[in-house]
Amino acid sequence: MKIKIIGNSCTWTNRPNPQYLVNDEMLIDTPQSSTKFLFGSYDFEKLKYILITHFHSDHFADLHIIYDALKKRTKNLEKVTVVGPKTLFKRLMGMFKIFELGYRKKKDIKEVFNIIELKDGDKLTLGDYEIEMVRVKHNVKYPFGFILKQKGSSKTIGFSGDSAMCDGLIKIIKMSDIVFLDCVMSPANNIHLSADEILLLQKEFKGKMFYSTHHVPDQLPEKYQGKIILPPIGKTYQIK
Ligand SMILES: [Zn+2]
Ligand SMILES: [Zn+2]
Repeated sequence: MKIKIIGNSCTWTNRPNPQYLVNDEMLIDTPQSSTKFLFGSYDFEKLKYILITHFHSDHFADLHIIYDALKKRTKNLEKVTVVGPKTLFKRLMGMFKIFELGYRKKKDIKEVFNIIELKDGDKLTLGDYEIEMVRVKHNVKYPFGFILKQKGSSKTIGFSGDSAMCDGLIKIIKMSDIVFLDCVMSPANNIHLSADEILLLQKEFKGKMFYSTHHVPDQLPEKYQGKIILPPIGKTYQIK
């Protein structure tokens, strides 16, 4: 499996928000402004799947731009499957309305996207992939992370989305070999993981690979340097 880091930060920096491209065909989240970093470097004809963790703008807001990019395809006109929490379709319709793209009707969206709404514990097979949706803890109504496994790959990958410490987050870590976790530098709270909590998790779940994104600054405070990994933008991890 191949995972490319499109974005690794949060709204309040000049770096793109957390977004991952799996095997050139699956996007994890569609954050506000991160899609810009795909233009010119990514062929949208290859896109097959999109997984949405939750509806905060730094994870979801560019889905309407991806819709437009897909409308420009000339070779592959297959629908792209978009998997996300309950209300995904309704919210996407609302997004078109808010941005005055209301001429896009339900049928137009259904021509491009195959929308699948999942709940906690739901499992889904998409092509070569097995996906499990796991509820996490965050300040939205439907916060989720994903456990992702590709047939033929020995490794399972976890994506926390945004989450504070909770049972769902621990489940994602336990079930995965490699995890991409939301992290902030500040003290522990009910919205995100703190850097100190990441250190504790790394200690508790030795042998697993942790990558921290979202609120991590370019320069980690000295106490976390060499201990917390901020995956660089543009880097591709080849996972065997
Ligand atoms: Zn969030
Ligand atoms: Zn976020």
